[in-house]
Amino acid sequence: MMSSLSECLDQKQFCILVEYLCSVKSPLAVRKTLANFPAMMTLADRVHADNDPAPLDLATKYPDTVDKLIHFSGKARDIKDLERFLNDLENTTIRNLLLVTGDKLKSHDFGYEVAAQRTRYLESVSAIMAAKQRQIFKIGVAFNPFKYTEAESDAQYLKLHKKIKAGADFLITQLGFDVECLQQTQVFLQKNYPNFSALACVMPLTLKRAQFMVKNRVAGIVISDHVLQTLEKEYQSDPIQAEINVYARCALQILICKHFGYAGVHLSACHKEDEQKKLEQALKVFENFSLNECQQAWKDLWQADAQGDFKPNVKISSKPVTQTQILKYKKMHTMHRMFFESKMARTIGHFVFKPSFWNRSNAQNILLKIEHSSKHRLVGCESCGECRLGDTLYICPETCPKGLANGPCGGTSLDRCEFEDRECIHSVKARLAKKIHQTEILKTKLIPAISITTRHTSSWKSWFTDTK
Ligand code: SF4
Repeated sequence: MMSSLSECLDQKQFCILVEYLCSVKSPLAVRKTLANFPAMMTLADRVHADNDPAPLDLATKYPDTVDKLIHFSGKARDIKDLERFLNDLENTTIRNLLLVTGDKLKSHDFGYEVAAQRTRYLESVSAIMAAKQRQIFKIGVAFNPFKYTEAESDAQYLKLHKKIKAGADFLITQLGFDVECLQQTQVFLQKNYPNFSALACVMPLTLKRAQFMVKNRVAGIVISDHVLQTLEKEYQSDPIQAEINVYARCALQILICKHFGYAGVHLSACHKEDEQKKLEQALKVFENFSLNECQQAWKDLWQADAQGDFKPNVKISSKPVTQTQILKYKKMHTMHRMFFESKMARTIGHFVFKPSFWNRSNAQNILLKIEHSSKHRLVGCESCGECRLGDTLYICPETCPKGLANGPCGGTSLDRCEFEDRECIHSVKARLAKKIHQTEILKTKLIPAISITTRHTSSWKSWFTDTK
């Protein structure tokens, strides 16, 4: 009988989600169990190339007898694309989905030449809010616990609160080898959401894969110098033993996660039959190890003296919040309350923004220009049509290359943006929030997606004419 992901999570039965690549030409054999753990398929969305085949199309080529998890990535997608995807998914027997914002689109368009062409990302929080309304899906989200500055780690956890509030049923961590970070996530969940399920992403880490990830700076993945050097040394001295160690480490990480309380693992780069057999053999060796024994064997295999061996090899310092940032926040907050939230402002606004006048297209264009010129220099406004500054500590979401309003993607590296040209705006925001005691808003305020059709309109008119 088929085990479903939903049953496993509800019954707290440890399970393995085996990732299959959408870029493979013909379907591969699929296992229903792996080392006696229930196994299911998971299909990622455009991980290798922007034009990878759609996971849902590929899923239908595999038998219904294996439960599946379909990823939906928000890169270059609008809320309407998600609704179409959900309609298609409803017409299948698949009920598990993983909603992620996604890493940088390889063909990302910054919109330098034509602003309207800027690549947009449907962020996960907004996607969860929309999918939850259908009430039939088990919704997973991504979470990156491998963050090493206070601000970027705070920002990840603040967003996780939002994802859970929006309706996420489980999380899958980013791939990583720092088990201390994986343990911290479990501590956080036990404290705040004891019934929430988490799965850890693991992979048999070969030297080749590690080198690829370092060379290509794969977003959000940390391969420390120690990890890379250990793989290099052992491969040079004995490639056969090196391969045995690769699967032994993967098995140990799976068992450590099980001991930590993870509901299962998301197993990457292990979809071939021979790879799965090697992993099963390794799991057999350690299956009766206690947590302490697994951790000791893990350290021995990595030749690690300290937990720091898995962390980035740089000096990590906390940036201070500047007086200018605090003053800007205060000034903007006072102006926002005065011009948009006060009773007087609303009364005047309803009168001034009468639809009969402002619905004329020339009037709308004038209004749009006034709004853009007054806010662009100040905060980086791009006329999104639904101003969210009041919910984002007056740090404009449009200054994030992905346009994310609810919190960071997983791609930061020591506070730097995945696009490498700026500091992540969500690290700046998390730092400021802590300083001015405003973290609650970053934890609880769910900001819906802005449809492409709303963009490049004035938010002022809708602010005063919509019933809020
Ligand atoms: S600013 Fe932050 S959330 Fe936006 S793309 Fe860069 S790293 Fe991701």
